[in-house]
Amino acid sequence: MTSRFSRRWVSCTHNGCQNSASQTAEHGVNPLSSTPGIDNRPAHAFPAALVAALREARHVVLLSGAGVSAESGVPTFRDAMTGLWSRFDPAELATPEAFERDPELVWGWYEWRRMRALQAQPNPAHLAIAGMSDHLPQLTLVTQNVDDLHERAGSDTVIHLHGSLHQPRCATCGRSHAFPDEMPNEPEGGRRLPPPRCTRCRGLIRPGVVWFGESLPEGAFYQAQEAAENCDLLISVGTSSLVYPAAGLPHLAKAHGSQLIQINPQPTNLDGHATWNVVGAAGQILPALVAAAWGSTRAQYHPGGLPACADDSQ
Ligand SMILES: [Zn+2]
Repeated sequence: MTSRFSRRWVSCTHNGCQNSASQTAEHGVNPLSSTPGIDNRPAHAFPAALVAALREARHVVLLSGAGVSAESGVPTFRDAMTGLWSRFDPAELATPEAFERDPELVWGWYEWRRMRALQAQPNPAHLAIAGMSDHLPQLTLVTQNVDDLHERAGSDTVIHLHGSLHQPRCATCGRSHAFPDEMPNEPEGGRRLPPPRCTRCRGLIRPGVVWFGESLPEGAFYQAQEAAENCDLLISVGTSSLVYPAAGLPHLAKAHGSQLIQINPQPTNLDGHATWNVVGAAGQILPALVAAAWGSTRAQYHPGGLPACADDSQ
């Protein structure tokens, strides 16, 4: 983690921004700590204009991606290919055709992924996002993630653009299906598993996620689009900004006059379009940003103490 920490910087591409942090951005500004080995992250190390944009925003859209879940240990789509699944290409498991051809293989993979997601816990990024809604007049949370970590962190309204592992439905008639309360108990290496049957039509129950070749849930995407058109600040967190149409939301927001904050450990296609790029892990940047905007202490987002990664500068 030390090397990642030392690479963090804030760059401000906001025209006319005069604050000192932005002026040194081309040399790389670490927003949290200027001295490796010392946890001296001052809240004011973010550009003042960035903090003001968040504090004064009337409507924020927060777009979260796989990186936010990955910080909780949820395997990303590509990383979920171990054990039995290592013999398959995820793009070949996540299609309606794959489910038609071999429903037991596909259902087994999704039950294994659902188990992994349920075993994970919300991280400080999820908790900070839930905490932001206490301070903002309006926060629209849009996620590309199919787990329920935002909900378990306390965010009560979450737009799931790519569906959810936790909301399966009948592949034939569309009726929703309720999972039993207990955690799935899948072997570490995965297994084939017959999907349950619909109680209405006896059709096969399918995962509630959006597969390759399928459209996004219409209502979810419409809500996200409308929010992007009406927000004054969009924060993109932990997403590669490659997967459309979700990746189009920041551009839509910007075209309607919104400012953009991007938080991501790696460069993305959004870098040149964002008002501010904050490079780093969401679980460290977001709690610090909330503290900078509203003075909340980071401890509020770490019930039970600071996680090990919070002091990783050593
Ligand atoms: Zn049915």
